[in-house]
Amino acid sequence: MLIQCVDVKHYLLPLSHPMTDATHGVHTNFELVLVRIKSDCGLTGIGYTYTIGRGGAAIRSLIERDLTPILLHADAQRIEALWEKMWRCLHYIGRGGLASFAMSAVDIALWDLRGKKEAAPLWKLLGGYSQAVPAYAGGIDLQLDAPELAEQTRRNLEKGFRAIKIKVGREILREDVARVAAVRDCIGPDMPLMLDANMRWTVEQAVRAAKHFADFDIFWLEEPTIPDDYAGMARIAQEGGLPIAAGENLHTIYEFRHTIESGKIAFPEPDVSNIGGISNWMRVAKLAYAHNLPVTSHGVHELHLHLLAAIPNASYLEVHSFGLERFIKNPPRLQAGLMRAPDCPGHGVEFDWEKLQEFEVPG
Ligand SMILES: [Mg+2]
Repeated sequence: MLIQCVDVKHYLLPLSHPMTDATHGVHTNFELVLVRIKSDCGLTGIGYTYTIGRGGAAIRSLIERDLTPILLHADAQRIEALWEKMWRCLHYIGRGGLASFAMSAVDIALWDLRGKKEAAPLWKLLGGYSQAVPAYAGGIDLQLDAPELAEQTRRNLEKGFRAIKIKVGREILREDVARVAAVRDCIGPDMPLMLDANMRWTVEQAVRAAKHFADFDIFWLEEPTIPDDYAGMARIAQEGGLPIAAGENLHTIYEFRHTIESGKIAFPEPDVSNIGGISNWMRVAKLAYAHNLPVTSHGVHELHLHLLAAIPNASYLEVHSFGLERFIKNPPRLQAGLMRAPDCPGHGVEFDWEKLQEFEVPG
């Protein structure tokens, strides 16, 4: 199955409403970089990555100028070989960062193509452990005060969620504690409640915050500090007493090795759209397995649904708030806290091209 054509598109998509977190401030839009790889057997694989509003043009350029020459006329089924070629091609300016975003979009398209060729859904192709995956509502909601958060939580429970995550990291810790208390009160004592600080704190601040949250039976505390401070992350886990999740800002398997072994995190959280695609996401999942750890996900839940369904050590699937599903014809549905991976070949994501067109960024 030889690659005939690589087509890249770049979109700037609006969010349904402004969303805030502790480090990146207010989000009003996000970028989607979409790759279509057409093979000589007539099948087309679709892959994509996203940003929080910046960097998309550079990612597009990396794919068009540097990765496409590697891909054209190559055997699309030799994904490992193509992955290593792409990694080495971008190594000097890469080893993560934008290079991993660009490789992600390509790698996802190659896996989609393989699924279509073999007429198998990705979740079965990659392992086929369990078709249904527990999902949580991943709020981007630092702007909401306690009563508004309670209202958002009630709406999420009505939608069928049985696990909730909110943002923390306000200037005044007392406000965060009140917000967490309001959500716990709303969901009762038994439902998982996750908190996400988006790297807001120093290690000392994070330990102090974790101790204040301890009364609310927190399932995990996500990114309490910068991802690069592995020793600090370990201290937060040990002294703060809460399980730590991290990974959306780690872009290599080596960074995950360090954060698992030295950072002592409890929930590795790779994002298939920035870790180098499905090939590298599965490596992280196996690394976590060897350390007896569950894996969760970040963003693009329509793709992570397949990956978490494939593996035996899956934790919760994040249902992300950016709302990419508004541009997808057949988004996965939630039922009683679970999402079911689809049975169609590949990842099965069908974009609404007409709807996307309005937001295309010219090349
Ligand atoms: Mg996060």
